[in-house]
Amino acid sequence: MSVKPRKRRQWPLLVGACILAAGAVIFIGDSPFETSTSSNKEVPDLVAATPVPTPTPRVAVEFRMLDLDRGWVKYADGMAHTSDGGAHWQEATSTEALPTDGEAATNGLEAITKLLSLESGTGSAAEGASATATATSGSPSVDIVTLNGTMFDVKQSQFVTPKIGWALLPSTTNSKSPLVLTVDGGQSWIDGMTEDAKAVILGVKAQLAQLKAEALLYKDEAGAKAAMGASWKLIPDQASPGDIVLVRHKEPGSIAWQGKTYTLQPYEAGYFTYLPISMSVKAGTYPIGDQTLTIKAKKFETQYLKVTEQMESMKQDTTRINTDQKKIDLARSKSEPSFLFSGPFVKPIEGILTTPYGYTRYVNGKYDSAHMALDLAAKEGTPIKATNDGVVALAELLYLTGNSIYIDHGMGLFSQYAHLSELRVKPGDRVKQGDIIGLVGTTGFSTGPHLHFTFWAHNIQANPDLFFNTTPFQWVK
Ligand SMILES: [Zn+2]
Repeated sequence: MSVKPRKRRQWPLLVGACILAAGAVIFIGDSPFETSTSSNKEVPDLVAATPVPTPTPRVAVEFRMLDLDRGWVKYADGMAHTSDGGAHWQEATSTEALPTDGEAATNGLEAITKLLSLESGTGSAAEGASATATATSGSPSVDIVTLNGTMFDVKQSQFVTPKIGWALLPSTTNSKSPLVLTVDGGQSWIDGMTEDAKAVILGVKAQLAQLKAEALLYKDEAGAKAAMGASWKLIPDQASPGDIVLVRHKEPGSIAWQGKTYTLQPYEAGYFTYLPISMSVKAGTYPIGDQTLTIKAKKFETQYLKVTEQMESMKQDTTRINTDQKKIDLARSKSEPSFLFSGPFVKPIEGILTTPYGYTRYVNGKYDSAHMALDLAAKEGTPIKATNDGVVALAELLYLTGNSIYIDHGMGLFSQYAHLSELRVKPGDRVKQGDIIGLVGTTGFSTGPHLHFTFWAHNIQANPDLFFNTTPFQWVK
């Protein structure tokens, strides 16, 4: 392909071809990229000194864009390719430099189609396998383009997204670039590339990157589609008192829930908030956005605890308890506006479950509280793991909960660890899932070595059992 067609070329082009063989690049048309890229700095003299040959009318046979950047045009006498969406075209000296369709299937068109279908809610996992069919379905069909007020017939057109497409005119002398570009679904066409078009393409690329990053958080493609394709998604849409629900919406907004307003925070391609289902929420159905949240009643067991009178009297020191509460409230008043984890939550210790979540607890015969945490008994000194990635919000000795840690996991979610014998972290520390943050002990209001562990979302406890070996994103049903 590379040698034969060159022989047939006219003299000026042969000069150009020799320069190309030496590694130079011929730019066709003006480019907004030329001024700032570092690669241009390396060869400015060469580019400036090389007279760009006036292209003799070349007949383009066909073209193909493989993604938003890469594509090729086939001429009767050779090939040119682009790696910047058609801003620059480079004569192909051999076919080996050209991206292949196979490569495009994994990184290009098929991937783009698949990502866009997550959000549009169209197509299925099976359809995604047929790249070209889905990439072009729903795309505008173009017969004529208007360029600077003049209409031209279109020989071939291709849309990579519903808005962004390229068209080949019958004769390349009609335009500076081999292809004309639209970034508004074919409403208007551009010869080459403009700053505005470049900005639109960069915006689409950023959107695709967000879709890709968010999709990875769900259990599988079906889960990603179910969450990302919906206007509102309750993850999950059934819960019980003491649970927590993650809400996703396509747009910014807020939710009025149980007398409070929860503002949706942007994250990747959507807007999210945790919705804590406190113990006082009645069973029933509640509208959230265009969805319905079903709250099912749940019966919690009762536990009777006997402690020494000295221990019982601890709870009467309301001054110390209130002082601690202020510290805890302050630590939990700020949370990073992002999900700080990507992998599953883990159990901080194996331990023996002595008090399950939600038990109604009586101490020495008197009602004490609903125990909205797990008590896991283990030997004094057992290492405690961070349940997931986050930032330590509090790590200090408190009166009732002893040596205590709160870790911020972002978006208003905290994990709490109490009664430790030793703290191994300090506020502000960034921790990873599984990092040892302290040791099991029996400090504070405690009858023996154990870990009191729970989650808090917007200052309301949430059932830890929901989190182990999974993440809220994977609760999609
Ligand atoms: Zn406890």
